[in-house]
Formats: sequence, C-alpha cells, structure tokens
Amino acid sequence: MEMRAREDVEIGRDITPAIPPISFSLHDAFLHSHCSACFSPLSGRPFPPRHHRHLSSSSSVLYCSPLCSAADSPLHFSSAESNLLDSSPPSPSSESSADLRLLRTSSAAASGDRMFGLLTNREKLLAEGDEISDRVRSGAAAMAAARGRGNGAAEEEESAICLVITNGVEVVDEKGRGIGIAVYDSAFSWINHSCSPNACYRFLLPSPDLSPSPPDSDLRIVPSGPTVILTSILHCSLRCGGGYGPRIVVRSIRRIKKGEEITVAYTDLLQPKAARSSELWSKYRFICCCKRCSSSSSSSYVDRALEEIATSQGFDNVEATGRRLTDYVDEVITDFLSDDGDPETCCRKLEHLLVSGLSGLRLHPLHHLAINAYTTLSSAYRIHASTSKSFSKTRTSAAYALFLAAAANHLLTFEPSLVACVANYWASAGECLLTLSSSSSPPPPPSRVAQQYRCSKCSFVDALKAVSYADFETVKCKLVDCIGGYTRRSWGYLSKGCDYLERFEDPMDLSWVQKWPASSNRDAKCGFVVAESMDDVWQLGAHCLAYGGFLAAVCYGGAIALE
Ligand SMILES: [Zn+2]
Ligand SMILES: [Zn+2]
Ligand SMILES: [Zn+2]
Repeated sequence: MEMRAREDVEIGRDITPAIPPISFSLHDAFLHSHCSACFSPLSGRPFPPRHHRHLSSSSSVLYCSPLCSAADSPLHFSSAESNLLDSSPPSPSSESSADLRLLRTSSAAASGDRMFGLLTNREKLLAEGDEISDRVRSGAAAMAAARGRGNGAAEEEESAICLVITNGVEVVDEKGRGIGIAVYDSAFSWINHSCSPNACYRFLLPSPDLSPSPPDSDLRIVPSGPTVILTSILHCSLRCGGGYGPRIVVRSIRRIKKGEEITVAYTDLLQPKAARSSELWSKYRFICCCKRCSSSSSSSYVDRALEEIATSQGFDNVEATGRRLTDYVDEVITDFLSDDGDPETCCRKLEHLLVSGLSGLRLHPLHHLAINAYTTLSSAYRIHASTSKSFSKTRTSAAYALFLAAAANHLLTFEPSLVACVANYWASAGECLLTLSSSSSPPPPPSRVAQQYRCSKCSFVDALKAVSYADFETVKCKLVDCIGGYTRRSWGYLSKGCDYLERFEDPMDLSWVQKWPASSNRDAKCGFVVAESMDDVWQLGAHCLAYGGFLAAVCYGGAIALE
C-alpha cells in the first residue's frame, strides 16, 4: 500500500488530522513517571487502575487523573496486560503490552495476515531463524501465558507481535526520549519509507480531561492501489482509538505535488546507506529502493561523505578497517556513557582519532562517525567544564556544537529531508553559545531575551512567527547569511586551543570538503584576528536558536505538544 497527496501541499503543512492510536504502551522505564493512558508526565499523586483496591508501589501502571484511569483501566485488565506486567520475573517490555492491547481491540478486525488492514509480516519475520524470530516466539509464549492460554505460542500472539514490530512507532517526548510504542491505523501505517522523505510526523497528547481535540487538519492524503473507502479509515481511527493515547500528525517537509507519494523515514537518515539497509532489512524485511538508495552508479554526495575515509597507501581491506573505526568510536562513547565514564579520556581519544586517524585511516569531516564524535565531544566538554570549572572547556563545547550544526547544515543543502535533525543541532548550538556568553567574565553581555531580540539584518523575529513557509528558502538564506557573518568573526576565538577545530577556517564554508582529501586544508591554521567579543558570541547564539526554531517549526508546527 502507499499514500499519495490529494492536492498540492506547501512545505510545513499538516497533511493528516491528529490520528489516535489503535494500540499503545509506555516503555517499562516510564511506567512510574508517565500516565499510561495519555503519556503525560505524572505530577502530584498518581491514580492506580480502577478496581485496583489500593495504590501500592507494586501497581504496574499509573494514571494522571481519575478520568485517564477510568478510560484505560478496562483495557489494562481485559487485555491481560496486568498479568503480564505483574508476573515475576517481569515479562519482556512494552512491545508485549502493546501486542496484548492490540489483540484485545483487534479480535473483530483480524483477517488472514492482516489486522486493521495492516500487514503483520509474520511469515517474513519468522522465516529466518535470527534474533527477531526468537524474540517473536518467546514474546508470543509470554503473552499466551498471560492470557491464560497455556505455554505454547499461538499464531494469534505471534501475528500481534509481528504487527507491532512492523507498524509500531516509537513515541518520543520533547527531549527526544523514546517513552513508548504505538500502532496507528492505515492512514499512517500505509505511508511508506524513503531515505529522502517528503514528510515527517510528531506526537500530540490529548488533554487530560479527554475532551476531543478540535478537527485540526483535513486528511490531505489518499491510499492508492486497491480501492479503499476513505471515510472508513478515519472512522476506524476515531472508533478504535477510544480518544486517548498519543496521537500522531504527519506534516510535509517539502513542497509536494498532487498525486506524489507521501513518504516518511523509518530509520536515522544520517546513517550511511549500508547501515540504513541493514536496519530496514532486519526490522522490516525490505530492501529500500528510494531515489537516494538506488542512484547506483554514483551514490549521492551525502551518502559518499557519510562514509568517506582517507587511507594512506597500501590498504586493500577498507571494509574491515572501516569496521575497526566504528568499533573504536562505539567503545569510546560507551565508556563515556557508562557510570564511571571519564569525559577527559573520551575527549582525548576522539580528538586523537579526528586529528591523526587510526592505523592510517582518516575520517572525512562529514563521516557519520565524525558527526557522532562531534555530538559526544560537545557534551563531554560541557561535563568536563562543569566539574573542572574551566571556561575554555565551555568554549570548546560550544565550538563543537556549532561545528556540528554547520556540518549538518552543509549536508542539508544536498538532502533537504535532514531538516528535523539539523533543527536540533542548531538549537543546541544556540543554547551552548548563550551559556558561554553568560558564563564569561568579565564582562557579561547585556541581558537580553533571545526570543524578543530583533536583528536589523535578517528576518530573525519574522522567522519565529512565520505561519506560511512559502518563502522558506528566502528566510533560511537570510538567517544563514547572518550566522555566517557572526561565525567568521568569532570562530577564531571559539576554536582556539582545539587541535581539531582550529584546522577549519570557517565551518559555515565547507565547500572545500567536496574535494576532500585532495584539497584538504587541514594545516591551514586559521589566521583571523581573534575577536573576543562576547557580544558577537551572544548574537551568534541567538541566531542559532532562531534558525533551529524556524527549522523545527517547519517539521513540527508552532509547538511541540508533548512535555
Ligand atoms: Zn493521563
Ligand atoms: Zn532508501
Ligand atoms: Zn540577523
């Protein structure tokens, strides 16, 4: 199945109404901090499931209000989710809970290998005796036991698990944490994957009083292929969803022509092609033929950059050594994230890799491992700065955040669908730079509120208030232009003392990396006069925040509703 645009759609428009889930469940780690019915964070005294005599620490699910409890408790008990969660040792994960809820709601909707018109993919997922098929079989056994159907895994349970694996979406909160899993009906689930998608999605919480949200947007997409009665899709959404659970809204991130297929990403788009393919195969059992993946003769500039490695002479097994680089970076990052992780060691190892490479291999500045390294370096320097009270480390942390945003922005010019992750990078660069300018001494910059600031050169404020993105490119160019100016003035200062970053003259002008490493300017130490003006840093930070906010509004609308 696939979905197509019913009309021409501008960039930054909702193309579906808020679609309620068929089935949903919090991840185990969030069962005691979030409401199991509406996914909002619990504050004050939570409410147990109704009929549960007393609220004890062993109550497996909690609700934010008596209304949420009343709405969800019947399903919690009837689906046997309570048995699954209360069993000891606790059974596997939210996936199983969502499966049980799904089974409960689906009894009438299942037919053949489809439930709710959604593909379960059961045969393909079980065909190979691998980790996934093991997970399906053991999950189905646990579910069957929870439903009092004995210990043998039944086909029905397996189908439900496969359906959740195939159609389930990770529900993320505004901090980017995955807090649960939800399955939506065909209006969302029939949208196919592309590594260069033209749409993205966001989640909305119903208000705790469960009042139906106003009809927000029309369904601007229609299924193509076998004739389907459109209204039945929406009708099913509203009936089965019961009005609670995290809703999903699909939004255009490009201009879409009437009749064009709508696509979203099922995987991280900043991964190189091989990593995307292997994830899509192991999880969904398909080979991606999108235009980014199938430009066979020469893969796209972005995909080449994401995996380009420079080798010194005599390397014949680049693949094996590439794996060693991946293992090395993974190990350093895992050590850093572990309980006794040391930010100083992490910074030293990652910077050594970026500057000198590993056994003769050097990473392209836009290699996906380098991009992971910049993210980690920015946060490791920030932690290091707060424990050692070192201002220069705060500065290096901000420099890495800015470099990361600029590098991703460079890729964005070739691959517009990266807009959502680029938005995040700019927002965090903005925060780091504002923190830096406010922690400088002396003198601190005049206190200003970034959101109320008006730049005389660009459309800063207008960008934040933009409701139509018809002039998206114009607004974007003006903001980038201003950021470029402030970056040139402060980069010498920001990158000072950082062996790796000092090698780049201007992170906003990475055009030379297209010819890397032939014309690498890696030894061109920057020759700018160091402008130690904190006001420039503040202006730069405020602009980065505005630009990040502008890009985020394109992807998510004016406000991200989960909090
Ligand atoms: Zn609630
Ligand atoms: Zn693809
Ligand atoms: Zn400006």
